[in-house]
Amino acid sequence: MAKVVYVNKDECTSCNACAENLPEYFRMDDDDLAESHNGGSNVNAASVKDGDVSKVQDEIDQCPGECIHWK
Ligand code: SF4
Repeated sequence: MAKVVYVNKDECTSCNACAENLPEYFRMDDDDLAESHNGGSNVNAASVKDGDVSKVQDEIDQCPGECIHWK
């Protein structure tokens, strides 16, 4: 089963890093807080392809707010 990633928006510092590095999985919302997505759907509950798990993990590890998590 695909892993699902989400952002705890309460902790997001709006640094933009995840949205810049992995726009296919992260974007900034109208309040400039990050959220995960699957191309418009699955807002803040994005399924991650098996081959992309390590690069999403890199964003989790680098997020300054420590607010990106696996479900
Ligand atoms: S990397 Fe973390 S703090 Fe920066 S925009 Fe993404 S979720 Fe927010």
